[in-house]
Amino acid sequence: MTQERFTDYKLSTDITNALNGLGYTLPTEVQRKVIPLVLEQKDLVTKSQTGSGKTASYGIPICELVEWIENKPQALVLTPTRELAVQVKDDLTDIGRFKRIKATAVYGKQPIAIQKTELKQKTHVVVGTPGRVLDHIERDTLPLDKIRYLVIDEADEMLNMGFIEQVETIINKLPRERVTLLFSATLPEKVKNLASNYMKDPIDIEIKATG
Ligand code: ADP
Ligand code: MG
Repeated sequence: MTQERFTDYKLSTDITNALNGLGYTLPTEVQRKVIPLVLEQKDLVTKSQTGSGKTASYGIPICELVEWIENKPQALVLTPTRELAVQVKDDLTDIGRFKRIKATAVYGKQPIAIQKTELKQKTHVVVGTPGRVLDHIERDTLPLDKIRYLVIDEADEMLNMGFIEQVETIINKLPRERVTLLFSATLPEKVKNLASNYMKDPIDIEIKATG
């Protein structure tokens, strides 16, 4: 069997060139499973260990699929921590470099005014912690009507940090016509409930731990 490569996914050259620049030649196992299904707009629940390459597994197809729509964000990524929000924003910016994808991170402890200014400029993807995302929604500084992709990253950590209720509040404000992608290293019952309550026939992907 020949090894699957990023070029097998018929990604635009803007994206494949960016992956080359990052030194990504072969997709990781989770990327081989997730990328084609996101390109087909499927909802996914993905269980895969830390370090397996989950960010690019959703980042690559999302950067491929988003386009400019009235300067409003089309993808929302929820993360449990500020550090992860910034990391994901940086990764999406790298993957989307040649397509000029703009990603914005919003999180607590940074003055909200700075983020308001950034959100007013055109941005494709917003990455943030649930509390601050809700804060922006309530202030009308984060329009949700064009969101087509929702990513819940590190869902088990969201649960551990007590953010599940805020995540649910956010989900209830999003357009129903969307793709929802949940990623987690473990799948406790409350995370599974989140999937069954808010996703459309999600496909379960489980990458067995290696080593
Ligand atoms: P996870 O979210 O599963 O913990 P990350 O998405 O943070 O993992 O990726 C872990 C590391 O692997 C990062 O440094 C990332 O740049 C790198 N990486 C991801 N995909 C690839 C790839 N296809 N080839 C080489 N390195 C990769
Ligand atoms: Mg991750």
